[in-house]
This record gives sequence, C-alpha cells and structure tokens, in this order.
Amino acid sequence: MSDAELVLRSTRVLTPGGTRAASVAVTDGMITAVLPHDAPVPTGARLEDLGDDALLPGLVDTHVHVNDPGRTEWEGFWTATRAAAAGGITTLIDMPLNSLPPTTTVGHLRTKQRAAAGQAHIDVGFWGGALPDNVEDLRPLHDAGVFGFKAFLSPSGVDEFPHLGQEQLARSLAEIAAFDGLLIAHAEDPRHLASAPQHGGPRYADFLASRPRRAEDTAIAHLVEQARRRDARVHVLHLSSSDALPVIAAAKADGVRVSVETCPHYLTLTAEEVPDGASEFKCCPPIREAANQDLLWQALADGTIDCVVTDHSPSTADLKTDDFATAWGGISGLQLSLPAVWTGARVRGHGLEDVVRWMSAHTARLAGLGTRKGAIAPGHDADFAVLAPDETFTVDPAALQHRNRLTAYAGRTLYGVVRSTWLRGRCVMADGEFTEPKGRLLTRPH
Ligand SMILES: [Zn+2]
Repeated sequence: MSDAELVLRSTRVLTPGGTRAASVAVTDGMITAVLPHDAPVPTGARLEDLGDDALLPGLVDTHVHVNDPGRTEWEGFWTATRAAAAGGITTLIDMPLNSLPPTTTVGHLRTKQRAAAGQAHIDVGFWGGALPDNVEDLRPLHDAGVFGFKAFLSPSGVDEFPHLGQEQLARSLAEIAAFDGLLIAHAEDPRHLASAPQHGGPRYADFLASRPRRAEDTAIAHLVEQARRRDARVHVLHLSSSDALPVIAAAKADGVRVSVETCPHYLTLTAEEVPDGASEFKCCPPIREAANQDLLWQALADGTIDCVVTDHSPSTADLKTDDFATAWGGISGLQLSLPAVWTGARVRGHGLEDVVRWMSAHTARLAGLGTRKGAIAPGHDADFAVLAPDETFTVDPAALQHRNRLTAYAGRTLYGVVRSTWLRGRCVMADGEFTEPKGRLLTRPH
C-alpha cells in the first residue's frame, strides 16, 4: 500500500468475508487494500486508529423523502444529509414525491439536482416517479440517470402525485421493462382501504384497522403477477404485513425479479405500544402488532426481505395532529436507523454483519451501486461509518439534525453510537461536528 494516503485501522472491520482486525488503505477516495491489522503504515500516509470501534461500510438508504424544493419547511438537502451523516449513512436516494415539483420529468429532475447542489453532506441520487400521464417521460428520465421509478398503487397523500390504476400500472411497467428499469411500488390496494372502517380520531387501534394487512397483501400479489408476466424488475417498498411474505417467498423461488424492503419502525416499534394521539408513529402502511414484527425479522434472516431503509418522511409539527386519519403520515428515521435496527437485531441474536448486509450491501445492490458502495473491499468508495456497537445512548430530540425534530424514538435507549462518518476518504461527521458539504449527485451507473 505504498501509495495510500489514509489508513483506517480497527479490530472490527466489517468486510464481505466477515469481521476481522484489519487496516484499510485509501487512495484518492477509494479503498485500495484491506490489509492485516499490523500492516506497516506507509510514509506520508495518515493513520486513523479506531481501536475496538467497528468500521462499517457507509450505509446506503434508498428510501428518503427530502422534500426539497417546494416543501423545504418539512425537510431539505442540507438538514437531511446532516441527519444521515450523523447516522452513518453515506448515500441516500431521494424519493420523487413531496418535493415541488415531483421528479416526474427530466426538467423536474434538473430542478431537484439544482436544489441539492452544494447542500449535500453525503452522496445523493434520485428516483423518478411513474404517474398515470407520464409514460413518455420514463425513458428520458432513465437516460438522465434516475435509479428507477416509484409508483403508488393507492392514493399517495399529495395531489400532485396520483396513483396508478391497474391498467396504468401495466402500461408503465411495460415501458420500464422495455429498458430493463426498476419499478418500486407503494403497495396497498385502494379497494381494501376504501372498504376498511374509517373512524378517524386519536385511537391507534382505529388507525390500524383502517389500513388492513389485506390491502398490502392484495396489492403485492398483483404487483408480483405483473412482474412475473413481463419478466420485469419490481421492488416492494416498506413492507409491513407479514401475511404477504409467503407470496413473495414463492415468487422469489420461481425466479420472479422481486425485491423487498422493510423499515426500522416496523422492526422496532409495535402497535401495542403506540400511545393514542401520538401521530409521530403514523405511517402508511402502519406499524403493526408484535407478532407481525417477529415474522418480519424472520423474513430478513431467511432472505425473503432484502433490505432495511428508513422511509424518512417528515413534515412540520403542525401537520402531526392527534387525529390519525388526518395527521401527516411519515416517520423521521435518518439519524437513528442504524442504532434502532442494531438494537433490535442484537436482542434477536443477529450480528452487525447482518445489519450491514440489510442496510448497506443490499441497498447498494438495489440501486445498482453494488460495485462502488456497500462494501469494504478494494475498488469501492472509501465510505465508512465508525460505530461503537456496545455503547448506548438515550434519544434526545434536541440532538437530531433533521429539520423537524419530532421522533417516534424519543426517550428510547439504543445500542450503537456513530462516532464518525467518512465519504470517499474524508471525515464528514465526527462526534456531532460536520465538515463542509462535499457530497456528490449520483446518477444510475450504466
Ligand atoms: Zn416513502
């Protein structure tokens, strides 16, 4: 490693081949070698000795609503990427909706990229959106570098992003499959939502009953059938209903190109413990019962669920009223996703290697970034999270970096303190202090 500029040394380096004591050599922002722990440091190279803190590949969060421009009072690139960096995330892919404009044409993509330029503390890419009336925009967006296309199969919550009916889904998916793109879907069936009891009000049990599992199960079964028929690539966003797992597992066994994510809140919070009126816990699909959660963890362990992403989707506090029917649906998780998932994982006997697979390697692969991100291996970007996995902290909303500091995790004690975050060999966050934003705007690799 004679030309290395930086060496990060730790007794716990999370490599694709396992956790081991190692020295990681970095040159020009790339990992050039993973060497023995006691390898000599070349002349001129800086040694960063992390002791027993774990060195993880930086997390890749493929489901983030930055809302910038247009709803920047909800969130923005500056604040979202600081929160992400504070949580060990080094790449995020922004969702096409809740910003104004939504990312549904190439012109809108350019507007989003201008909003993000110079604001990003980590690397940022963009999903496009599939609407009922923008089929002809999909290929140009693909060529312009979006990572895939988000569609809603039920109302999205914002008027400017209407959902796809079944025929519209078929048409969009046919177009996306024609260039072997990826369709990512919010899968709830609107007919099941419409026929569920809609009581409104502050009781969480009423809200849960208004978003039944069968709405997810039906929409996912339909999506999987569409993917099977066209040999298209589809991805199920934020899976909450464990009842959908058998259909997904069977489709995967048949070779259908379907992948699935779930979120930290489904894995670590339960319906039984949500206080009435506490709409910081509201998201769609909803947080379900503890028994459902156990099955989500099992599905992660057996590979039916591929990855864990935040679905960070904040709003201003005034929209988080105590009426679950009308309160904004979205949970802010960027800064806390790694400690939350790690805390849940360790009590269930999972290792940090599993967390890295779900939150870094597999999400990088989902975005098509697997050769550059998501692994501590030569040729990958030198993106790292340095984690004290056995240390705990209590969540204080005042310490959060995202714009609106409402959190469903307030007061919880979590394992895993993120000491520092590194982007292409540069420390971008250390002990809550940030450097100037040097994140890049990513496009889908060809
Ligand atoms: Zn979302």
